[in-house]
Amino acid sequence: MSKQLSKDDVLFRQRFLSCCGFYADTLDGLWGKNTDDAEAAFAARSAEIAQAEGTFDARTERTLFSLRCDAQAAARRSLAAIRAAGHDARAISGTRTYPEQQALYRQGRFGNPGPIVTKAQAGQSWHNFGLAWDIGLFNGGQYVTNDAPYVQVGPIGRTGGVEWGGDWKSFKDNPHYQFGTGGMAISAARAVFEAGGR
Ligand SMILES: [Zn+2]
Repeated sequence: MSKQLSKDDVLFRQRFLSCCGFYADTLDGLWGKNTDDAEAAFAARSAEIAQAEGTFDARTERTLFSLRCDAQAAARRSLAAIRAAGHDARAISGTRTYPEQQALYRQGRFGNPGPIVTKAQAGQSWHNFGLAWDIGLFNGGQYVTNDAPYVQVGPIGRTGGVEWGGDWKSFKDNPHYQFGTGGMAISAARAVFEAGGR
């Protein structure tokens, strides 16, 4: 982790590491030894999970390492189940900081180019709390963009407590999976995250 981060970036990281159980110091946005130690402990635990559960392609690995530890293990099992059913599934998007979420929200809005890809502003997405990931399906190395294959694999990936965005009633998000949401409303989850899960 680079130390050339804004105070908001560091605070986000401290909240994330606290939720993972590796950071118990003040959530102050100041990078210190305890943040450094927490980052090292998180990296070590993540490596253990990867070794225990099995690893995938490089992009999937980067994506999964962005998740909270409990979600990492669940995501690896979900992806493995989909792949075992013969689909080339990869994790292509994981944790987003609040500024990253806001940039994504602006896509396709306010005169910005690109399609609208999210209805969630900063702090309104499970991706902002380290608990969600999106998959891409690939066919002969080509990224699959039509919905049907994502709908087909959704129930396969919905394993071991993993929730699938295709089950949502109002806004179906077929490539989306999440874990550990505990039946909470997103506003409640945001409060828990910002308190570092304490
Ligand atoms: Zn998603």
